[in-house]
Amino acid sequence: MVETSELPEALIQDDEHDSPGDEFHSGKIYCANCIHCKLVPARPEGDERYFLRVRCAAGKWRKKQGEEKMYKYCTITRRYLDDCDSYEEMGDTREFLRELKRTIPNKDEQYVLVSG
Ligand code: SF4
Repeated sequence: MVETSELPEALIQDDEHDSPGDEFHSGKIYCANCIHCKLVPARPEGDERYFLRVRCAAGKWRKKQGEEKMYKYCTITRRYLDDCDSYEEMGDTREFLRELKRTIPNKDEQYVLVSG
């Protein structure tokens, strides 16, 4: 997962596609360990607050109507696939996830932009 400073307007997705449980599934592709998985701040229109979201920069996460889908940052360690032709591993998956779980928030936190 790579942090970026982009501020997309699209936002707030449900956790409807979260994988249940938090255990490691050997042989699966974890999006968190892919170079295309980006951490981005996202702000609802007209709102001072922003939230942390993850997006797939390879364009693999789509809603049925075709718009981009983003997910809550706090869910990223549970997002895995059987296969992805754009997956680019960034390191040992199990070790990466272990470290990531130590640092990510365990719920969807809100932030406020402070100027000055
Ligand atoms: S390219 Fe594939 S593995 Fe990488 S973040 Fe997107 S969907 Fe996940």
